[in-house]
Amino acid sequence: MAERQRRGGGSEAAAGREASAGRTGARLGVALLGSTGSIGRSVVDVLARFPDRFRTVVLAAGRRVDVLAEQARRLRPAVVAAEVPLAGSDLPPGTRSVRADRQGLAELVLRPDVDLVVVGTAGLVSLRATIAALEAGKIVATSNKETLVAAGHLVMPLARKAAAEAAARSTGDPFASPLAWLRPIDSEHSAIWQCLAGEDRRGIRRLVLTASGGPFLDVPLAALATARPEAALRHPTWRMGPKITIDSATLVNKGLEVIEAHWLYDVDYDAIAVVIHPQSIVHSVVEFVDGSLKAQLGRPDMRHPIQYALSYPERWPAPGPSLDLAALARLDFRAPEPERFPALATAYEAGRLGPRATAALIAADEVAVERFLAGELELPGIARLLATAVERFGEGPVPADVEAVEALAAEVQAAFGGGGAPRGVVGQGAER
Ligand code: MG
Repeated sequence: MAERQRRGGGSEAAAGREASAGRTGARLGVALLGSTGSIGRSVVDVLARFPDRFRTVVLAAGRRVDVLAEQARRLRPAVVAAEVPLAGSDLPPGTRSVRADRQGLAELVLRPDVDLVVVGTAGLVSLRATIAALEAGKIVATSNKETLVAAGHLVMPLARKAAAEAAARSTGDPFASPLAWLRPIDSEHSAIWQCLAGEDRRGIRRLVLTASGGPFLDVPLAALATARPEAALRHPTWRMGPKITIDSATLVNKGLEVIEAHWLYDVDYDAIAVVIHPQSIVHSVVEFVDGSLKAQLGRPDMRHPIQYALSYPERWPAPGPSLDLAALARLDFRAPEPERFPALATAYEAGRLGPRATAALIAADEVAVERFLAGELELPGIARLLATAVERFGEGPVPADVEAVEALAAEVQAAFGGGGAPRGVVGQGAER
């Protein structure tokens, strides 16, 4: 702890924040954790499109070393980190290969030439790195759900502190918002962030998160019990990895996003709603006290929210064609049926109980999805397992640090037949 305080303390962090803000016009130095997952590969595309804005310093992945080597040849980072070292002959001149575990990642992001840490990993593997980066005054852009669902109480105070320091320096500073320091990559949270630009948060009446509803939106309720993993993996609008796709089919993903929204925007659970929107064009909505609604629309392409998280407070040219509203013709909305998506209510319940319950929820979900994909659990069993986890582990001491979050996750996962250790390998990209 002493070392963490030293790193985060005083002028060093403040100097880091100045550099991070990129106000000098210099290119931002980027560490990308989880570069070979679905989010990571899209981040690589964005970094490659703006070579005058970014220097890639670190690329970290798990076991997909062939993809990592190809990315290194494209972006020429100073360091690549993986679970197994890469052959020097696969790497461009000047790129060094290291092995890195979760503590190693936390050390890599503290390099002085790293200004911006992009987290695309699943699970808890990058939580130490995220906290270390925020403490050192670096920007974090993340698609990782555990960061806020399991550790919002540890992470948000760091983002708020950085924002308060920016606010003290100058009025109207775009870095005076916690969102400037902990930047969401998820499309829904990016939408709310964009809708809130220039708004006083006291004007918020409620946040409305949109959900596609997944592949089982219209199947008879009785058919859910026999839903096969192959069918659940067929997401109607987004192309994503298996974990997030199953979480979309059960609406667990939306429940986790409700919890994230509570932390990111400091809004009560009563003021966060979910609406089904099968086209995935309206990415989320903010309703204000005067009855006005602001929505953010765009193609379901993760490169858009990723680019916004990297370009903030600026906007840069889009990677694809414009959204053609006339061609869309219509946008549909409906309320989620509680009987079809029982896990949504469980997520709200966990959120209201607090960080211990939400940490247990997301740890249990990792096991539940694995067991569903392995054919050991039927689809409705996922929601039942989550409800049991919240009931069994939801009350008790709030995990006071990263180690306690990891220990609770391991305990929950062991209780439900998981491996007993918090999973989430660097290369298994979080895919939102
Ligand atoms: Mg999302």
